[in-house]
Amino acid sequence: MSPVLASSVSPSSRNDSAAADPVRPRLLTGDRPTGPLHLGHLVGTLRNRVRLQDAYDCTFIVADLHMLTTRNAPEQIAEIDANARTLVLDALGAGLDPARVTFYLQSLVPEVLELAGLFQSLVSVNRLERIPSLKEMARDSGQEMSFALLGYPVLQAADILAVRAEAVPVGKDNYAYVEVTREIARRFNARYGEVFPEPETVEGDVPTLVGTDGQRKMSKSLGNAIALSDPAPVVRKKVMGMFTDPNRLTATTPGRVEGNPVFAYLDAFGADIATIEALKDRYRAGRVGDVEVKAYLVEVLESVLQPMRERRETFAAPGVVETLIEEGSERVRTETRETLRLVRTAMGFAGVHTRLHRRARKAGGGLPGA
Ligand code: ATP
Ligand code: MG
Repeated sequence: MSPVLASSVSPSSRNDSAAADPVRPRLLTGDRPTGPLHLGHLVGTLRNRVRLQDAYDCTFIVADLHMLTTRNAPEQIAEIDANARTLVLDALGAGLDPARVTFYLQSLVPEVLELAGLFQSLVSVNRLERIPSLKEMARDSGQEMSFALLGYPVLQAADILAVRAEAVPVGKDNYAYVEVTREIARRFNARYGEVFPEPETVEGDVPTLVGTDGQRKMSKSLGNAIALSDPAPVVRKKVMGMFTDPNRLTATTPGRVEGNPVFAYLDAFGADIATIEALKDRYRAGRVGDVEVKAYLVEVLESVLQPMRERRETFAAPGVVETLIEEGSERVRTETRETLRLVRTAMGFAGVHTRLHRRARKAGGGLPGA
């Protein structure tokens, strides 16, 4: 446990019993509001969020400022509220309990930008340029590497350290960013005094789930995702259109299971291992068609998604999610201000400001001779 958590600061202004527990370590993670959550989120991070919601004081960011890295047009910004609603509904549908966890919208906590600014001298440009997923994001968005994109991990460090989180459940593309957070926390503590915990990455069941294209990671903005909120006919259509083994021309051609996204999804979401192994054997031997395997995958996915659709509906009344986001944002704002107070004090700014203020007051103000 971090020294800060053990000793100071009540977790938040929250008055429910869970958050009032000062010994629960904190957890932060979240998503960019660029579209609905998908199967990749479920196995990369969402299942861990659900599992850890009792043991940790959990905060989930709707990271709209991070959207500006690659999706910054006014019409994309105008989608934030609708996408935020979708994200939070998806997360609740997957099993998060709104009474136990906090959701917030990053842009409603502008103090995080100040924190990110104060962190900038703790990391080198060279270090950030070496992170491969940033280059991929720039390439996928068709844009040049912006200052915002290069600084993505620094702002993410501010998100995590603003609530002094100790656990960060994320997918593999995010591991390198959490490493930057750890470095920033370490350097800050060494240079200015112990304020931050060094947060741990909590790795997902499947660190990277491939997309329906069988090529790149499943991603909201790459058009290769099965959304948790997709209706059953859409799931069926997407599965039936999935890429499989490109060298397999007929059902009697021996097929490849490894690297085949249909089997990757069966491994990730199927519970009946014996049936899946039997299908793999028949596939390798050229004794089952793609259609039969895909039909079974549809069944497996439906058994996962249908309960989520039902749970999601229970929170869908207008205003429910929006109230959660507004209240959560206030809570995180209070917490971030407290972190900034600790940071300014540790760095020496608080002392500077106090001395300045005292001298100004002592002098009585005004210009000489005025
Ligand atoms: P975008 O296309 O806007 O980047 P995304 O689908 O990549 O969206 P993010 O909001 O960037 O989703 O990621 C949210 C979290 O989900 C991160 O922790 C990320 O590592 C994880 N994640 C996203 N896609 C996958 C995936 N295909 N497999 C495993 N984890 C994933
Ligand atoms: Mg992403």
